[in-house]
Amino acid sequence: MSTARPRIAVVGAAAAGLAAAEGLRRLGWDGEITLVGDEPHLPYDRPPLSKQVLSGAWEPERTALRDTAQITGLELDLRLGTRARAYDPARRTLTLDGDGQSDLRCAGVIAATGVTPRVLPGTAGVQGVHVLRTLDDALRLRGRLALPGRRLVVVGSGVLGAEAAAVARTLGHDVALVGTQETPMQRVLGAEVGGLLAEAHRAHGVSLHTGRAVTGITERSGRVSGVVLADGTVVEADDVLVAIGSVPAVDWLRGPGAGAAGLDLSDGLGCDEFCAAAPGLYGAGDVARWYHPVLRRHLRIEHRMNASEQGLAAARNLLAELDPERFGERRPFTPVPYFWSDQYSLKLQAYGVLADAERVQVLRLDKDPLRLAALYGTSDHATGALAIGLPPRQARSLRALVATPSPWPEAAARLAAAVEG
Ligand SMILES: Cc1cc2nc3c(=O)[nH]c(=O)nc-3n(C[C@H](O)[C@H](O)[C@H](O)COP(=O)(O)OP(=O)(O)OC[C@H]3O[C@@H](n4cnc5c(N)ncnc54)[C@H](O)[C@@H]3O)c2cc1C
Repeated sequence: MSTARPRIAVVGAAAAGLAAAEGLRRLGWDGEITLVGDEPHLPYDRPPLSKQVLSGAWEPERTALRDTAQITGLELDLRLGTRARAYDPARRTLTLDGDGQSDLRCAGVIAATGVTPRVLPGTAGVQGVHVLRTLDDALRLRGRLALPGRRLVVVGSGVLGAEAAAVARTLGHDVALVGTQETPMQRVLGAEVGGLLAEAHRAHGVSLHTGRAVTGITERSGRVSGVVLADGTVVEADDVLVAIGSVPAVDWLRGPGAGAAGLDLSDGLGCDEFCAAAPGLYGAGDVARWYHPVLRRHLRIEHRMNASEQGLAAARNLLAELDPERFGERRPFTPVPYFWSDQYSLKLQAYGVLADAERVQVLRLDKDPLRLAALYGTSDHATGALAIGLPPRQARSLRALVATPSPWPEAAARLAAAVEG
């Protein structure tokens, strides 16, 4: 008779995976928990990478999400530096790279593998071309920015590119920010607020090349020397940061059994409202696209807070599926999305859904154009709210305002009251 304890495998050892593993233990799972991560590090936090780590204000150790004793306390079967190669949903077996062991039989699996950065075609192996996703990426770029008077071109003017540009400029480097959008973070913030952000970057001395695609790079002796824009302009560079979005890390789920199990891998791991992709398989964090029953749409959110919240939700629902009598019923995952970004002294905080809004209403709060609150949504309903430069209590009050979509006149009145109160 086998005495092996049942196993839950959590694939991806970062914010979402850690939250899932901790949730499993806290909720009472006393079986094995195998936590698999392909990076060599214990779980660490990514937001500081483009802020305090890049600027040199923090040493890498400060990004650790838990100390060694806390990780030990979880009694994990911890497999760092190990890639999950495949998962067979029908047999519930997980295949790991390079451990020389047989497949792991699992009672359940939580996929928390995040995303990987998109790269510029033709730049592989060229010195001085960077991405910024991992601690190692951040330390590499930080090493370059520790040299005086660099010329950094940031390709991509989304949140990551805008943050890195702000840090490099604050360190005194010559920074160009290139993006296909007309203003930084335009897809999320809209043209009006994006325009104000563009002004802030210009005022700090960043040279903006907006509405421009990059068609290639120039190099000298295997090292990047500039980027080429669609109109032929070459922007010279000592280093280039490519921040043009990311791709969900689902390759390991694309095995022959994926189709039979009905896995939808078209944009991350498609999940239902319980974060379930198939029986015994749950998704959490940046990789998971799940159905939000309150917002009545699928969402895949690349934000830090969602990673923790969804990791816990996936753990709870997997346990409820495995043993409903002991762990209770599964619950839909219905968070109010939240993200923040720090650029120079600006703190942006956003609740709900802002991206690709049909309608945006901006409320300026005083003469400083970057002290504002704004609503985002469809033509009928406000679904998201943004605060820049608001005191923390007021910024937090915007959460309740967009917890459920509300008609514009009502949302606008509540926004005005929230920023006055
Ligand atoms: C530089 C930077 C700054 C950010 N700043 C902010 C911010 O200011 N505010 C905010 O809200 N959000 C921010 N984010 C986003 C936030 O950090 C992410 O949403 C969050 O880290 C997602 O966590 P995750 O655990 O889902 O995925 P990840 O953090 O991507 O972790 C997934 C892990 O799984 C590993 N993995 C992938 N495939 C496999 C495999 N096959 N086998 C084993 N392991 C695998 C990966 O290497 C990785 O370690 C930032 C992100 C970055 C990169």
